[in-house]
Amino acid sequence: MKKLSIKIRVTLWYSIFMIILVSVVLAFMIAISNNVVESNVKKALTKTVNKAMDDVDYEKGELKIDNDLDLFNDGVYMIICDENKSIIQSEIPSGFDNELELNDKETRKTYINGELYYVYDREINFKKHDPLWIRGIVPAEGAISVINILVKISIIALPFIVILAAAGGYVITKRSFESIEKMRRAADNINEGKDLSKRIALGDGDDEILKLGKTFDRMLERLEESFENETQFTSDASHELRTPVSVILAQCEYMLENDNLEISQKDEVEVIKRQAKRMSQLISQLLTFSRLDRGMNKDNFESFDISELAEIICEEALDTHNRNIELTWNIEENIYAYGDLSLITRLFSNLINNAFQYGKEGGFVKVELNEEKNNIIFTVTDNGIGIAREEQNKIWNRFYQVNKSRSSDKNNSMGLGLSMVKWIAQFHEGSIKVESELGEGSRFIFSMPKNKR
Ligand code: ADP
Repeated sequence: MKKLSIKIRVTLWYSIFMIILVSVVLAFMIAISNNVVESNVKKALTKTVNKAMDDVDYEKGELKIDNDLDLFNDGVYMIICDENKSIIQSEIPSGFDNELELNDKETRKTYINGELYYVYDREINFKKHDPLWIRGIVPAEGAISVINILVKISIIALPFIVILAAAGGYVITKRSFESIEKMRRAADNINEGKDLSKRIALGDGDDEILKLGKTFDRMLERLEESFENETQFTSDASHELRTPVSVILAQCEYMLENDNLEISQKDEVEVIKRQAKRMSQLISQLLTFSRLDRGMNKDNFESFDISELAEIICEEALDTHNRNIELTWNIEENIYAYGDLSLITRLFSNLINNAFQYGKEGGFVKVELNEEKNNIIFTVTDNGIGIAREEQNKIWNRFYQVNKSRSSDKNNSMGLGLSMVKWIAQFHEGSIKVESELGEGSRFIFSMPKNKR
């Protein structure tokens, strides 16, 4: 049941419910109408027979049956007979054999040759003559044929009614769920594109789902607003902090040039300078993020030789890194990408820098670039300290650091590099993932569609 869609579940539920309900109502109706028909038959039987008694009499010693007496009246057949059931006058329904005992004032049901009959007898007593009997008979077949027709109609109509209701209900639930599906798609789009300016926009109406859509849209509006406020604050704060930090850095430089300072004082100034530098880097990263969050457009996208770019970054890394780690690369020539050159440069550098930062002394870093099924695949592999499985989802979060002491360059670690990498990958409609084993090493795999214009 869990695997069925809600549409099918709802339709199935009320169809089954309807079948049960209609069947119960039908059974109830048949039972009631059976009783009604039976009591009507009995009433007609007694009334007709009792009335007929007045039409049978002796006149001057001779039996006189009124000419007006109709022996088949109101669906009731009648037999006039003596005590030995010898018939005097009669209208007998075919199949009825009149073997049944005479029994005064009692309505009975009897089966003769498989057919059901209602029978009612009355004895007519005379002063000077032997009594006579009138027997009324109603074949049940005619009486209950109405019920039979009702049952037949119901049996034929019921499946149609259920199918019609199920189909109608399915269409209505499907329509309602289309709006929900639209909401899900809109939410997915917002999620994928990280574009909070998108709206579900189901339109106006009193329908509960349309109202829900509107509530979501209002919520998105609030979210967008507070998100904008937050990025605005980050941007403003970073701008404001830039000047005092530059002043601190300049003052440090100035003090360090002062020959009158003692060595210990110079050391203290060096500490201030180092921390101010770190702060300056942090501010510049924050500014970049606030720029990215405001939504960068793709105006800077261009076609460029990504193989050449990867090679240049590797060569630069060879020059700048002073750790005892061997860097090798295997780069397929002449692959062209369509994207933002400066952002891709940042992505490559961040991944290669991390591999050095978290690599083992005497270890290796391997960079690869190739093309696979219209995708550009860039991987950086190291045999460094690796990342525990439970940390692998978190490393993409801003300011997240597994453990600061793991980095070989603690002063430059701020936990922003990989969140930037992820942002850039998504901005290029690509993806980034990590495969890592704690203590064994890591592999970061970036993939982006080739030459997408
Ligand atoms: P940081 O500035 O701390 O390097 P990142 O966002 O670049 O910030 O990385 C987040 C965390 O992921 C780091 O704190 C580090 O522990 C882990 N990490 C990143 N790259 C590697 C790697 N190649 N090997 C092991 N751990 C890594």
